[in-house]
Amino acid sequence: MIRVKGLHKTFNQNEVLKGIDLEVDQGEVICIIGPSGSGKSTFLRCLNLLERPDAGEIELDGAIVRFTGKEVATKDIRKLREKTGMVFQSFNLFPHKTALENVMEGPLVVKEQPKDKVRQMAEALLAKVDLSEKKDLFPAQLSGGQQQRVAIARALAMEPQVLLFDEPTSALDPELVGEVLKTIQELAREGQTMVIVTHEMAFAREVANRIVFMDGGKVVESGPPEQVFAHPKEERTRQFLAKFL
Ligand code: ADP
Ligand code: MG
Repeated sequence: MIRVKGLHKTFNQNEVLKGIDLEVDQGEVICIIGPSGSGKSTFLRCLNLLERPDAGEIELDGAIVRFTGKEVATKDIRKLREKTGMVFQSFNLFPHKTALENVMEGPLVVKEQPKDKVRQMAEALLAKVDLSEKKDLFPAQLSGGQQQRVAIARALAMEPQVLLFDEPTSALDPELVGEVLKTIQELAREGQTMVIVTHEMAFAREVANRIVFMDGGKVVESGPPEQVFAHPKEERTRQFLAKFL
């Protein structure tokens, strides 16, 4: 479903991605782990073109975009964006819209679908993240965990081929982490393709089909969770994981 080849990104003089290769199959859940500053967020942001890679290519569900340093065509940006849904660390909900309106916004504005149909779908998605009762509340009236579940429903409303999560629980109070991880786990069970940057190692071990360890703008090691967590091949992976014991 996703094939990334030789992805490079430099900010000013700082080479943040030094040639990332990654393939993700349909229905696969990939967890990206690695130290702060290793380029994980930049990589996710490149996948849906919130950042423009300097070199490399991204193929997503048949759409291929090659980066050469020149402007990327708007239609290519749109192609990648509409196939990906992003869930951020800081929820990023519209503060002046209710939970339901937040979920309806994308399909209404971007896809120009009829309002009744969009409302039905949004209500079904809020039920799925267990927030039917909260649908008319505003973000400020919701807990962080509830806001993040609205954000997940909002991303799903665009029917993305792949969901991208950037540390979805790291802004949450510890007691709210579990409900968000449980929601993500349910999506995994339903076969939703996902790429998840996380520091929740126990969760990554349980939910991921594959772990990707990034350091210094490169994929240092990747493999099934049992292998990467129990028998890492690389010393850098071992050192990183030792901090979580
Ligand atoms: P991670 O998510 O693994 O912590 P990031 O991708 O956020 O890493 O950051 C990797 C490096 O890229 C850091 O050194 C960061 O300062 C730099 N960086 C990220 N975004 C920008 C930006 N928009 N402009 C300049 N530097 C950036
Ligand atoms: Mg980050």
